[in-house]
Amino acid sequence: MAVFTPEQQLRILSDLVAIQSANDHELQVANYLAKLLGDHGITATVLPAEPDADHKQAEPDRANLVAEIGSGAPVLALSGHMDTVSVGDADAWTSDPFTVTERDGLLQGRGTTDMKAGLAAMVIAMIELKAQGLPRKGTLRLLASRAEEVGEYGAKELARAGYMRDADALVVGEPSGWNIIYTHKGSVDFRLRSQGTAAHSSMPEAGFNAIPPLMEVLVRAQQEFNARPASDPVLGELTFSTTVFHGGDQVNTIPDAAVAEVNVRTIPQFDNDEAIALLKGLVGEQNRRGARISLDPYMQEPVVQAPRDSLLVRLATKLGERISGVTTPVVGVAGVTDASSLLRGKGPDFPFMMFGPGNETMHTVNENIDKQMYLDFVQLYQRLFVEYLGQAG
Ligand SMILES: [Zn+2]
Repeated sequence: MAVFTPEQQLRILSDLVAIQSANDHELQVANYLAKLLGDHGITATVLPAEPDADHKQAEPDRANLVAEIGSGAPVLALSGHMDTVSVGDADAWTSDPFTVTERDGLLQGRGTTDMKAGLAAMVIAMIELKAQGLPRKGTLRLLASRAEEVGEYGAKELARAGYMRDADALVVGEPSGWNIIYTHKGSVDFRLRSQGTAAHSSMPEAGFNAIPPLMEVLVRAQQEFNARPASDPVLGELTFSTTVFHGGDQVNTIPDAAVAEVNVRTIPQFDNDEAIALLKGLVGEQNRRGARISLDPYMQEPVVQAPRDSLLVRLATKLGERISGVTTPVVGVAGVTDASSLLRGKGPDFPFMMFGPGNETMHTVNENIDKQMYLDFVQLYQRLFVEYLGQAG
C-alpha cells in the first residue's frame, strides 16, 4: 500500500511551487519538507545558511536540509535544490506562476521543472521506501540545497560539512527528462577591474584611460579561446562570453575605471585552471605595459566527469526504459549542477548521474512539467535507490 496517492503527490508539488523561493526563502521549503518527512518518521536536519561570497552576513530565510533513511554502507547521496530562478515577466505567464495549473497533461508553474518536481519525487520516494522498511542495506541521504542558481553556496556548505565524505554515489535530480546525464561542463565567472586616472579629454596624456587595456584583454581572450582546438566528444566546445562591460561616465572625461565580467564554460580538455591561467597571462601582459587590471575568478564550478557505464547508469537505463517506454540515451550537457561542488575531490571514477523529471522549459515563462513524468519518477526513484544499494559495494 503506497503512502501517497497520485493526487497527494501532485499536492506536494503544488505546495512546493506555492513557496516563492527565487534565490531566497529556501528555509520555508526546508521547513515544509522537514515536516513532511517528520510526519512519516524520517528525521530531517535544517542547516542554517552561512555567510557567502555575495553576503557578509548569513541570510535568515535561507537553509539547506539533510535527511537519511537506512544505515551503513553503501551511501547513495541524492541532490536537489530548493531555490528557483525569478518569475521574469509575470504578465507574460498564462497562469499564476505560483499556482500549479494543469493543461493538456502539463503542470505549469515556476520551479515545476527546475526542480521542485525532482526534489518532491526524491522526498516522496524516501517516504515510500521507509514505510516498506527499505532499504534493507545501505543509506539514502537527501542533500537539499539552497542557492543552486546563484553561486552553488548550499552545495558548497553541504560538501564542507562533510555530507559527501562517505558517499559512494550521487544522483542529482535536475531535469534531464528521459536522458541520463553522466558528465557536464564546468564554469568560471570572472570579474576584471581596470584602474585608470581621470583627466579632461582635451589632455588625455594627463590621465590613463581604463577602457582600452581592458578591451584588449577581452578581444584577445575571445581570439585565444576561439583558437583552442580542444573539443570534447560528448560536451562539445569550450565557450567564452563577455557578458558585462561598464566604463566611463562622461564623454569628455578620460575614464578612471572600467569593469567587465566574463563566463567561460570549460571541458575536460581545457579545464577551469587552464582558463584562469590563460586570462591571467593576458592581464599580466597589459599590466606590464602600464595597465592596472585585476582579475577575480569569483565563481568556479569544475567540470563533472563520471563513468558512463556505472551500476547507477545501468540501473537507471533499465528502469527508465521500462517505465517510460522510450529509450534513455546516456549523454552530457553544458549546464552546471550542484555536482560541481558536491563532487570536489572525488575523482573521475565516482559514480554520478543527473536524472530527474522535467523538460526544456526551465527558467522560461510558462515553465511546466509533464504530469505523468513526475509521477513516473516517484516510482522510478524508489526502485532505482533500492536496487542500487542492494547491488553496490
Ligand atoms: Zn536546477
